[in-house]
Amino acid sequence: MANRMGLTLLSRSDNVGVARVALAAFAAQLSFTLSDLEEIKVAVSEAVTNAVSHAYPGAEGEVAVSATADGDLLTVEVRDAGVGIPDVAAARAPSFTTVPDRMGLGFVFMESFMDELEVSSAPGQGTTVTMRKRCRPQAG
Ligand code: ATP
Ligand code: MG
Repeated sequence: MANRMGLTLLSRSDNVGVARVALAAFAAQLSFTLSDLEEIKVAVSEAVTNAVSHAYPGAEGEVAVSATADGDLLTVEVRDAGVGIPDVAAARAPSFTTVPDRMGLGFVFMESFMDELEVSSAPGQGTTVTMRKRCRPQAG
């Protein structure tokens, strides 16, 4: 049967590491390689960092991180109830950022390190990022 976890964090940068460590520990129950686990950690960090830095300008809010392990499939969801993204397709493009000095590569990393990335967002409606990654059968 599928296993699940959920974590509610305040949108503070210190909590990015909490989400990263929790997700890596949860993902380790599947047969991901160490390099897969590193990629999952980066993707989760980018999603949570986005919620922390963009969702609640000048304020604090909640970031909900949840995950499911089902067979060989890990699903991770990072959800905030913040300002939302007016144009998701534009925001996902490489180098798009609304913050000077940022690289605008967070979504690019999530997309390249996970098998699937879905971003659901609208102004005033918050943002939900869903990422999926499958582990390959281990040799032997
Ligand atoms: P980097 O991740 O390279 O530091 P970045 O965060 O600007 O820079 P992306 O992570 O690709 O780049 O995000 C692109 C843009 O999408 C952000 O600049 C921001 O405008 C918007 N965005 C992303 N996540 C959220 C969110 N959770 N809430 C509101 N806006 C968001
Ligand atoms: Mg980012």
